[in-house]
Amino acid sequence: MTTSGRHNYRNDYWDVVIVGGAVIGSSVAYFLTENPDFDGSVLVVEPDPTYEHSSTTLSLASIRHQFSNPINIEISMFGTEFGRDFHSRVEVDGNAPDLAFRETGYMFCASDSSLPQLRRNVTLQQNHGADVKLLSTREVADRFPYLNVDDLAGCSLGETGEGTLDAYSLLMGFKQRARHNGAVYSTGRVTGLVASGARVTHVELDSGQRISCGHVVNAAGTGAAHIASLLGLDLPVEPRRRSVFVFACDVPIERRFPLTIDTTGVHVRTEGPYFVAGGVPLNDTAVETGDFAVAADEFYDQVWPALAHRIPQFDRIKLLRSWAGHYAYNTLDQNAVVGAPPQVENFLFANGFSGHGLQQAPAVGRGIGELITYGAYRSLDLSDLGYGRILSGEPFVEEAII
Ligand SMILES: Cc1cc2nc3c(=O)[nH]c(=O)nc-3n(C[C@H](O)[C@H](O)[C@H](O)COP(=O)(O)OP(=O)(O)OC[C@H]3O[C@@H](n4cnc5c(N)ncnc54)[C@H](O)[C@@H]3O)c2cc1C
Repeated sequence: MTTSGRHNYRNDYWDVVIVGGAVIGSSVAYFLTENPDFDGSVLVVEPDPTYEHSSTTLSLASIRHQFSNPINIEISMFGTEFGRDFHSRVEVDGNAPDLAFRETGYMFCASDSSLPQLRRNVTLQQNHGADVKLLSTREVADRFPYLNVDDLAGCSLGETGEGTLDAYSLLMGFKQRARHNGAVYSTGRVTGLVASGARVTHVELDSGQRISCGHVVNAAGTGAAHIASLLGLDLPVEPRRRSVFVFACDVPIERRFPLTIDTTGVHVRTEGPYFVAGGVPLNDTAVETGDFAVAADEFYDQVWPALAHRIPQFDRIKLLRSWAGHYAYNTLDQNAVVGAPPQVENFLFANGFSGHGLQQAPAVGRGIGELITYGAYRSLDLSDLGYGRILSGEPFVEEAII
């Protein structure tokens, strides 16, 4: 690529402008500026440096290898590798945020009808090096005696590599190191994109400033469809509410407690001495971008009954607090859209992560960095997540969606 030199940019030209500075935008900034083969300038435009309503900070912040598509497995396995080595990768003068990565595992529960798919998934995951096992109900009952297995046919369990982390720390780690490397974060909102032929030439900000650019990365989360529309591109990504409930249970569970996904889709994990749970809303439709009201009924009608069925001691729990965040929900296939569309060669999508973007941030940031620096993927080929499938309407198949 032609660059102006990382430290020699003029304020009205940037080699790469990243729209959105949460975990995806900051990962892109990080991987670009860590790469000695990239010597360009990077501007990250983010309207809210507190990230109050970003999916990143409202996330359940967990990472799993239990997907049904090889690419998603490999993407998350790099997330684990990155998380294990987080301090040395992002430290600045010996300081790094505490990622608090705990490899507590995921456990998917299967009924008679879903067991064959789970078995296929586990075999694939193992073939890709994931430390996942299929357990019989007897093995589940032995290892997790608090679980009701009466209506289960088996469970898959991630022994190592999967778990939870601190989402804010992940974001801040990327950001501190990217800034240290020369990336500049600007508080503002992208309001316009100007194209000439098959290239974006300028980015317009709400301040009225107009900057010219080499590449633009769309990392705007639930705002991604709007950013795409500025170039006349369709992106089937919309905000979908996900309510999260924190509760206490006065009967202690003195056993390992993996993030457990019930056959209903209701999921629960520990958070210190407490538990955090959520589910897929029965009426799952787009919401207004500013609507962060918690769907309280969901807890009483859907989440709690499922929890109490699967873990009988959760019949007696105390709801402590709740919040709602938005998935940037890809309505075609609930998977990420990564890379440039054929119509605009220097505009890159990193969007539509639905419920698994946090764990995908390291691999996608690295991939976008490679596309910009080399014009092709060098480590993990993410082509199957490209925009071409949006144009053809051909979904990327992933069976293990939460
Ligand atoms: C309740 C919940 C639970 C989740 N659990 C998990 C989980 O366990 N594991 C996992 O991997 N993922 C999980 N996710 C998904 C994950 O949080 C997201 O996929 C990920 O954070 C997406 O990051 P992002 O940077 O793309 O988006 P965001 O974090 O939403 O950031 C987008 C940023 O773009 C900015 N922006 C928007 N418009 C503009 C504009 N016009 N100009 C400039 N900037 C703009 C916004 O201010 C925002 O900061 C969960 C999400 C939710 C809501």
